[in-house]
Amino acid sequence: MKDLDPADVSQCQATRLAGSFMTLGPRKQVRCSEVPTCVMLENEPNPKDGQRGYMALCPSCYVVFVQQMGADHAHPIMITGNQR
Ligand SMILES: [Zn+2]
Repeated sequence: MKDLDPADVSQCQATRLAGSFMTLGPRKQVRCSEVPTCVMLENEPNPKDGQRGYMALCPSCYVVFVQQMGADHAHPIMITGNQR
Protein backbone atom coordinates (compact mmCIF):
# COMPACT_ATOMS: atom_id res chain seq x y z
CA MET A 1 0.00 0.00 0.00
CA LYS A 2 1.32 3.42 -0.93
CA ASP A 3 1.48 5.96 1.84
CA LEU A 4 -0.37 9.21 1.29
CA ASP A 5 1.69 12.21 0.28
CA PRO A 6 2.53 14.42 3.26
CA ALA A 7 0.33 17.43 3.84
CA ASP A 8 1.67 20.64 2.31
CA VAL A 9 1.88 23.02 5.25
CA SER A 10 3.15 25.90 3.08
CA GLN A 11 -0.09 26.37 1.10
CA CYS A 12 -3.73 25.58 1.81
CA GLN A 13 -4.74 22.40 -0.04
CA ALA A 14 -8.39 23.28 -0.61
CA THR A 15 -9.69 24.31 -4.00
CA ARG A 16 -12.08 27.17 -4.51
CA LEU A 17 -13.76 28.82 -7.46
CA ALA A 18 -11.56 31.37 -9.19
CA GLY A 19 -12.83 34.90 -9.67
CA SER A 20 -16.08 36.12 -8.19
CA PHE A 21 -19.77 35.91 -8.97
CA MET A 22 -19.11 38.69 -11.51
CA THR A 23 -16.54 36.63 -13.47
CA LEU A 24 -17.69 36.03 -17.03
CA GLY A 25 -17.88 32.47 -18.28
CA PRO A 26 -17.34 29.28 -16.30
CA ARG A 27 -15.27 29.65 -13.16
CA LYS A 28 -12.39 27.23 -12.69
CA GLN A 29 -11.45 25.49 -9.48
CA VAL A 30 -8.08 26.79 -8.33
CA ARG A 31 -5.99 25.90 -5.33
CA CYS A 32 -6.36 28.26 -2.42
CA SER A 33 -3.28 30.48 -2.04
CA GLU A 34 -3.60 31.12 1.71
CA VAL A 35 -1.19 29.87 4.37
CA PRO A 36 -2.74 26.93 6.23
CA THR A 37 -3.09 27.00 10.00
CA CYS A 38 -4.18 23.41 10.59
CA VAL A 39 -4.15 19.94 9.07
CA MET A 40 -7.52 18.22 9.14
CA LEU A 41 -7.15 14.50 9.87
CA GLU A 42 -10.10 12.23 9.14
CA ASN A 43 -11.42 10.45 12.20
CA GLU A 44 -12.18 7.21 10.36
CA PRO A 45 -9.96 5.37 7.87
CA ASN A 46 -11.14 5.13 4.30
CA PRO A 47 -12.79 1.69 3.85
CA LYS A 48 -11.04 1.27 0.50
CA ASP A 49 -7.43 1.65 1.60
CA GLY A 50 -7.58 1.75 5.40
CA GLN A 51 -5.83 5.11 5.52
CA ARG A 52 -7.03 8.31 7.09
CA GLY A 53 -6.98 11.29 4.76
CA TYR A 54 -5.68 14.71 5.71
CA MET A 55 -5.23 18.12 4.17
CA ALA A 56 -3.79 21.45 5.24
CA LEU A 57 -6.36 24.24 5.44
CA CYS A 58 -6.39 27.98 6.04
CA PRO A 59 -8.96 29.42 8.49
CA SER A 60 -11.59 30.28 5.85
CA CYS A 61 -11.34 26.88 4.11
CA TYR A 62 -11.54 25.21 7.53
CA VAL A 63 -14.93 26.86 8.04
CA VAL A 64 -16.13 25.60 4.64
CA PHE A 65 -14.75 22.13 5.37
CA VAL A 66 -16.66 21.84 8.65
CA GLN A 67 -19.84 23.18 7.01
CA GLN A 68 -19.62 20.64 4.18
CA MET A 69 -18.23 17.60 6.00
CA GLY A 70 -19.68 18.09 9.47
CA ALA A 71 -17.85 18.58 12.75
CA ASP A 72 -17.44 14.82 13.37
CA HIS A 73 -15.71 13.94 10.10
CA ALA A 74 -12.20 15.10 10.99
CA HIS A 75 -10.27 16.94 13.62
CA PRO A 76 -7.73 19.74 13.25
CA ILE A 77 -4.07 19.49 14.17
CA MET A 78 -2.75 23.02 14.53
CA ILE A 79 0.32 24.00 12.52
CA THR A 80 2.65 26.06 14.67
CA GLY A 81 4.98 28.74 13.38
CA ASN A 82 3.04 29.37 10.16
CA GLN A 83 1.81 32.90 10.79
CA ARG A 84 2.53 35.48 8.12
ZN1 LIG B 1 -7.71 27.94 1.99
